[in-house]
Amino acid sequence: MSCPYEDGNGTSRRRVYSFGQSREAVMIRAGGLVILLILLISVSVSAQATTSPASPPSSSLDVKAAVDAYLAKMPAAQRARSDAYFEGGYWLQLWDFLATVVVMWLMLRLGWSARMRNLAERLVRFRPLQTAIYWIQFLLLVSLLTFPLTVYEGYFREHQYGLLNQTFGPWLRDQVVMLLVGLVLGAILMVPLFGLVRRLGKNWWVWGAAVTIVFSAFVELIAPVYIAPLFNKYTPLEDARIRDPILSLARANGIPATDVYEFDASRQSNRVSANVSGFAGTLRISLNDNLLKRCTLPEIETTMGHEMGHYVLNHLYKGLVMTGVLIVIGFALLNWGVNFGLARWGERWQVRGINDVAVLPLAVLVLSAYFFLLTPVSNTISRNIEYEADMYGLNAAQQPDGEANVDMMLGEYRKLDPGPVEEFIFFDHPSGRTRITAAMRWKAEHPQSANAEEMARPLFTAK
Ligand SMILES: [Zn+2]
Repeated sequence: MSCPYEDGNGTSRRRVYSFGQSREAVMIRAGGLVILLILLISVSVSAQATTSPASPPSSSLDVKAAVDAYLAKMPAAQRARSDAYFEGGYWLQLWDFLATVVVMWLMLRLGWSARMRNLAERLVRFRPLQTAIYWIQFLLLVSLLTFPLTVYEGYFREHQYGLLNQTFGPWLRDQVVMLLVGLVLGAILMVPLFGLVRRLGKNWWVWGAAVTIVFSAFVELIAPVYIAPLFNKYTPLEDARIRDPILSLARANGIPATDVYEFDASRQSNRVSANVSGFAGTLRISLNDNLLKRCTLPEIETTMGHEMGHYVLNHLYKGLVMTGVLIVIGFALLNWGVNFGLARWGERWQVRGINDVAVLPLAVLVLSAYFFLLTPVSNTISRNIEYEADMYGLNAAQQPDGEANVDMMLGEYRKLDPGPVEEFIFFDHPSGRTRITAAMRWKAEHPQSANAEEMARPLFTAK
């Protein structure tokens, strides 16, 4: 769970894997699992979507009116802009997917993939090293071909909506660092995966999925401590007025943290965010400087309550299990899809078989299609986890009005009031309306928690 109250730098690089078994049996089993998963998810969604309490609330607070009052804090023009930004993102997901399809197809059809493999074979004789060299060429070429789209999405469009603080130089520097991280991590995954295909033959995909899940866990665990600092500077938070209440909240929730860190997210944007990350000796609580600059103590506390919820409720591990199910089904499909493609066009593409690293673009094609179609499922898994953390944060920090204000700030780049189907398909976090409704529902049962200062606090200066 990259969690937080927010996403990182948009680091998600398309993951790549590669794969043999009775096709029909696998497809039927996979289809059954997907249906079961969707059923489970719909049940949990209906549980969370019920906003009207079964019995009347114990205070006279009109929950819906209180929610509307918070939503009205954002000026109409800014709301329209945020909606346009977020809705544009729906289309970008489609363009990103189509760009991947075109690039992968070109690499196969024009023989580039075979040529990169030939070069790797000429350079070295050791097969794992050949895989790594192929991977380096592959990722560089893909990054180059998709660069125009990356620049538009990550740089020009973000500036157009006033969401990026970086000039082109520093932005490009972050992209290059991300590419280097991708080269190293990708090679760490690719080498054992192709090793498995070569040794295990037909049944490689079961172990391949297992290796991929372990790899994801490894990345999740090292990312906050070894990757995040490549993009931002982390320093101990000195301000005792903020640090002490956070450490007190942590102790109250059984979190063994002794330090609170601050990081310079304002280098990239004005988005507010925080996280509780790491494991054993590396456990740390981090707040970004935007949160510290823009938010009041009740707002910081409710945000930290949410983050502590992720930690205490073991969301990292639960997320891995749920994603693990998707990965296993994905690998079964991958094995089938790749064998299907190779039987028809393998010779024309000069791809020798499933154990040939030049098959990678085909593998990426199959998995991209799978994960693209699964967008509502993965978003729903994430959204439910985030909703749980929200409930935890409300109970831990007891600041429903602070919570509503933070939810409004997140509305600067996430549509505040979508339709239910829209929220189901596209939202990886609950919408502003859902979150503020939960906060006001909590407040209706805890009238003494009302905070007039938070309610009256203006959040947006008209732009
Ligand atoms: Zn979260």
